[in-house]
Amino acid sequence: MEIAPYLEQRLLEQYGAEETESIRRGFSAARCTTLRTNRLKGTPEKTAAALEAAGIPFERVPWFEDAFRLEAGMEKEISQLPLYAQGEIYVQSLSSMLPPLLLGARPGDNILDMAAAPGGKTTEIASLTGGQAMITACERNLPRLERMKANLARQGCTRVTAMNVDARQLDDFFSFDRVLLDAPCSGSGTVSRDSRGRFEPALLKKTAALQRALLEKALRLVKPGGTVVYSTCSILREENEDVVAALLKGGKCELVPVEEGRFTEVPRLPCSLPGTVLVRPTEAYEGFFAAVLHRKR
Ligand code: SAM
Repeated sequence: MEIAPYLEQRLLEQYGAEETESIRRGFSAARCTTLRTNRLKGTPEKTAAALEAAGIPFERVPWFEDAFRLEAGMEKEISQLPLYAQGEIYVQSLSSMLPPLLLGARPGDNILDMAAAPGGKTTEIASLTGGQAMITACERNLPRLERMKANLARQGCTRVTAMNVDARQLDDFFSFDRVLLDAPCSGSGTVSRDSRGRFEPALLKKTAALQRALLEKALRLVKPGGTVVYSTCSILREENEDVVAALLKGGKCELVPVEEGRFTEVPRLPCSLPGTVLVRPTEAYEGFFAAVLHRKR
């Protein structure tokens, strides 16, 4: 499979020829369809029973009881299940399920989701907290915000305030127990057989600058002692390790290493910032990055 020339150049510089070849194989693989139970409306047992009744083969995911892995190309079959229309399940990539788990939100927490549409992670946080966390979900793009609102309604997420705002403009007066920044990115981890896309140096530079500004804002908006999770669906260090390392240099936060073995089975790429998660693209996973930060008191 062909990769956009500048992306290929960056992958070769960061990972070398052998890893780049294996990343290319990951991009080329037919990606499994994956979904998650929405605990506000259903249970994993009910999801499993509905899939079995519909004759849809599935596997469970060892690190997340709510997640299901199906064969590739099953989106249409899933969208026809009553469970889907009722919002009892949400189609979401496995990699994208990681940040809400890392955020560790609890009922009663005040959460900010800075770049939230279409709401995959917002709805997951609501599900994980039994709908008992207050979530502010920001999105700059209005059509995407509207899509998120529809998803929130279908998934029964009532304690979510959706805001059409550039998260960099949020008033520093706000303060949250936990902040998720699932940052806008180049999407370099999600290249697939069907998406080749444009990839230019200027785009990468602009995206990295936006990510730094948003992450600095996240640190100002989280309470002292609070948690920030930073994630992207990129596998380039300019958007991942470098963004986090620049923030750590400021001395106001520390990296909370993700426990070794917590996400068994999740395939990893070599990463220059130990304690973070850098997911290798494969047939089951999109390329992805996540880091957990703790604001010092
Ligand atoms: N978290 C979402 C989910 O799990 O469904 C995916 C978020 S996507 C990676 C990044 C989103 O950030 C896009 O919807 C984009 O429109 C939005 N965005 C970009 N710049 C933003 C900004 N400055 N403030 C708020 N949202 C922004």
